[in-house]
Amino acid sequence: MSIPQLLEEKIAAEGPISVADYMATCLYHPTLGYYMSRDPLGAEGDFITVPEMTQMFGELLGLWVADCWIKMGRPAPVQLVECGPGRGTLMLDVLRAISQVMPDLSKTLNVHLVEISPHLKAKQQATLVAHGNISWHTSLADVDLSQPTVLLANELLDALPVHQYFLKNGQYFERLVTTACSGFEFTYATEPTDTGHDGLLSDAPATITIYPAGDALLADIRTRLNGYALFVDYGGSGHADTLQAQRHHKMVDPLAYAGESDLTTHVDFGHVHAILGTGASTAMDMGPFLLALGLASRATILMERAPDDETRAQIATVTQKLVDPNKMGSHFKCLACRSSGLDIPAGFLD
Ligand code: SAH
Repeated sequence: MSIPQLLEEKIAAEGPISVADYMATCLYHPTLGYYMSRDPLGAEGDFITVPEMTQMFGELLGLWVADCWIKMGRPAPVQLVECGPGRGTLMLDVLRAISQVMPDLSKTLNVHLVEISPHLKAKQQATLVAHGNISWHTSLADVDLSQPTVLLANELLDALPVHQYFLKNGQYFERLVTTACSGFEFTYATEPTDTGHDGLLSDAPATITIYPAGDALLADIRTRLNGYALFVDYGGSGHADTLQAQRHHKMVDPLAYAGESDLTTHVDFGHVHAILGTGASTAMDMGPFLLALGLASRATILMERAPDDETRAQIATVTQKLVDPNKMGSHFKCLACRSSGLDIPAGFLD
């Protein structure tokens, strides 16, 4: 059985399926799903994330966590939760930075990793083998967020399934996925639908994206969080079609390699802010955020310590990429939220 076979059977039995259903099957089918069966990260995989590009990202987030802990009044114990930890690289860098700048925090830290993929969980265990006090969970629902907590989620929200609706002649249509005439090939279909957005029709956007999984996760964090949370992701507007697929580091048709490509949508941070409510900070571009946390000084130190010119050039290039306002520096956004009574977290303005 393969994902295309599975999808074809499902569509034959139930009719065309939503984009959310398509994403959920391709990415999260328990045994065949894209995330469940492989390590998609790095040069050998399909895409690369910021922590896989440079240790500086995790180190600076480690300082951010330490600052949150101070702002929370140094509770002991305190838990550090990461949702969607990939290979464990970000957590490794975060924990190393914390142990260097704030050993007291290291001693009292319980780490909880929320990972849906057994394959990536095994990678994380190998990466983090030297660190005690780490527990794994398949759902955030299993983590008690009423304990003092700092939560991190890098490039998680973009991987959660969405519904897409398009406006045509005053009527919304849900974008569906169905089988094409030949073989295991798929194509889009549409179905008139009531999105519950009729009241917006006068100034309605041409595309509406609905994020049931992301909204549920964020609403849960808003309700239960005692502490701080930080979300970092590729940002875009929910009013555009941002469904995309990456395979071997190239953009491909989202329907072309079902179960064999990384399906994502850009995260609408205005929407994330609205769901998180009063505790949410306004999203910052990643460049200014990392600079505020000390990216430039960290890069200088690493360059001074670098063994050769080639390493120095690599550090300079990656630093430039992270802050370039025409590239990652603004395409990636950071958004924090905090439970009531806590101060504005480092790097944010409100
Ligand atoms: N944060 C990492 C990896 C990003 S890839 C990094 O920046 O390198 C997305 C990660 O989220 C993977 O580890 C994937 O398995 C995990 N993931 C995706 N959906 C998830 C879900 N619903 N619950 C928990 N983890 C999830």
